[in-house]
Amino acid sequence: MSFNSLGLSDALLKAISKKGYTTPSPIQQKSIPPILEGKDVLASAQTGTGKTAGFTLPILQILSQGKHLSHRPIRALILTPTRELAAQILANIKEYGEFLDLRSTVIFGGVNQKPQVAQLRQGIDILVATPGRLIDLQNQGLITLNKVEILVLDEADRMLDMGFLRDIERIMKVLPTKRQNLMFSATFSKDIKKLAMGILNHPVQVEATPENTTVDAITQKVYPVAKEKKTELVIKLITEGNWKQILVFTRTKQGANKLTESMISAGIQAAAIHGNKGQGARTKALAGFKNGSLTALVATDIAARGLDIPLLPHVVNFELPNIPEDYVHRIGRTGRAGANGEAISLFSPDETVFLRDIEKLIGMKLPKENIKGFEPDPNASTEPIKQGQGRQQRNSTPRKPKTDTTNRSSNYSFGPRRPSQNNERRPNR
Ligand code: AMP
Repeated sequence: MSFNSLGLSDALLKAISKKGYTTPSPIQQKSIPPILEGKDVLASAQTGTGKTAGFTLPILQILSQGKHLSHRPIRALILTPTRELAAQILANIKEYGEFLDLRSTVIFGGVNQKPQVAQLRQGIDILVATPGRLIDLQNQGLITLNKVEILVLDEADRMLDMGFLRDIERIMKVLPTKRQNLMFSATFSKDIKKLAMGILNHPVQVEATPENTTVDAITQKVYPVAKEKKTELVIKLITEGNWKQILVFTRTKQGANKLTESMISAGIQAAAIHGNKGQGARTKALAGFKNGSLTALVATDIAARGLDIPLLPHVVNFELPNIPEDYVHRIGRTGRAGANGEAISLFSPDETVFLRDIEKLIGMKLPKENIKGFEPDPNASTEPIKQGQGRQQRNSTPRKPKTDTTNRSSNYSFGPRRPSQNNERRPNR
């Protein structure tokens, strides 16, 4: 199948060919036609499948064919959980829309609102936004959403995980009831299905990869390792393997900082990216990682969400995630768009429950390989990790992500919920 046969306009085909895409990815093949027909779509697709073009291309086509209003009200609204993802989507819209007369911009928290407001004042056809900043501006009367024709909820599962449900509901109230709705999610929990039922109208359901399964192009390995030797092992893997670009996941911000420092001491160019880092630091780290001046990017789950890093060869789980779905998201950063990748998990005995839950979710046993000199003590305790000091320890299966109005940090607290112990707080307001 070619992009030609999907019914896209010449202006879009020209932009696509400029990007170097020759064949639409499966999610694009399945989602573009129904979106062009004006239908609601519920798509199961994770980052790396080409989902962004799957919705931005048909939106650009629909808006460019519609009637042009001189004052340019916002006609398409794309909601995303993180600033990085928002910025990435806008970059794609600009590229794909290069030969069209449509204006787009992005708004997100953590930066001065003034330039964003100035952009909005000029008239914008497509707005990409994180929910917090959108509501802030809406409350200040700086944004009008009553002409929105198309709504996209991208990475809807992550938006719920991050506690954006109430914000989403508030935004729904100010949108016109008659509109086209598109929802993309990597995982489909009960709460996601409930949200979809509340928002979508007889949606066409499309799927890029089977639910909650990992992509075949990714080689997955587990290295059992003594907890205190993880840092040494990851450094050894990078230096001896001569790895040039590696994304490492830690469970906490503190863990990310500590590991980054150790890597730098070992002569590896590394930077941490997490919710405590300012926007400038995050952008700089990401740019360095993309241009090759940084070898390792150490990230927490939320910070990594939405990063567009094509053809990432190595992903390392320095610690296994306690939310099994996060494993799927993490390793989705490698083997992207057809390229092969390797996802390695450093697994210490105290993560036994996490590994079991991940294997249950993905429906397969992950192959284990011992590395001489790093093996854990066979008698080491398999008691789950204590999160923070003096906190109650977890002794059952991980809690499913909370999808009510609490923030994402609740997934990480096993004891009493204390905001000061948040792993990641909502970063986008
Ligand atoms: P996404 O899943 O939207 O984050 O896209 C993942 C990566 O695939 C991005 O770097 C896109 O630029 C790239 N991409 C999207 N569609 C195609 C395509 N049809 N052919 C090749 N690469 C693509």
